[in-house]
Amino acid sequence: MKTMLITGGSRGIGAATANLASENGFAVVVNYHQNQAAAEQVVSDIVEKGGKAAAIQADISKEEDVLRLFGETDRLFGSLHALVNNAGILERQMRLEDMDLARLNRIFTANITGQFLCAREAIKRMSVKRGGQGGTIVNVSSIASRTGAPNEYIDYAASKGAIDAFTLGLSKEVAEEGIRVNAVRPAFIYTDIHAAGGEPGRVDRIKESIPLKRGGRASEVAEAILWLSTEKSSFSTGIFIDVTGGR
Ligand code: NAP
Repeated sequence: MKTMLITGGSRGIGAATANLASENGFAVVVNYHQNQAAAEQVVSDIVEKGGKAAAIQADISKEEDVLRLFGETDRLFGSLHALVNNAGILERQMRLEDMDLARLNRIFTANITGQFLCAREAIKRMSVKRGGQGGTIVNVSSIASRTGAPNEYIDYAASKGAIDAFTLGLSKEVAEEGIRVNAVRPAFIYTDIHAAGGEPGRVDRIKESIPLKRGGRASEVAEAILWLSTEKSSFSTGIFIDVTGGR
């Protein structure tokens, strides 16, 4: 059985990916930050259906937590085949003039450094040059990397721009080591993240400007993540799948 580690697997896109991955035969590590009840619900739903999963708390913006997350994954599941770098945060909508240093550091550390640290630990385990069996990394970026999210959260958009560059560079760095690195760029998906920006109804406000005239479901993003995490995408690395309803 292959193992997939999903950061931020307790809610939203991560939780949908955990369910879909389990239905497709993966054992799943459901990482979470604070919401233990949500993570345990995802795990029990999977186990009830006959799948294999475990919830592991870790703040991916902290190196010691990331090391513990991967160490516990080794202990529980043995080898790691797929990493989904999904955990991400945004904060209240505002212009740059109003953003303080603490906020900028929180956004960049969680959204950029966290993905770098998790990918580093995954590569140490997957690289055929280090005795691993290869694997896949899927980074969850955002279409905000293309729009810049002016007047809402350009810090968040810039963090996702960094993830796009990270995906391109890392995909080439590890291509000869049996590891493929790709990204999905969602937008306008119904999850809790918009409430963190201070506008829980954001998707419904925007939906008329989306060509498909609706918001997206977390399960629709999960489909793209799963495809990039399996052999079905075996000749793709360094690519981006936009899941945005056409915008
Ligand atoms: P969400 O519903 O707010 O869920 C966020 C998840 O990330 C939760 O599981 C949360 O854990 C976890 N998390 C947050 N900070 C963490 C940390 N420091 N360490 C570990 N886990 C952490 O968000 P979502 O909408 O599913 O977003 C998932 C990804 O998609 C993010 O990278 C986001 O930027 C990206 N995205 C989303 C949209 C959208 O429209 N929803 C659009 C573009 C991109 P807890 O449950 O413990 O809090």
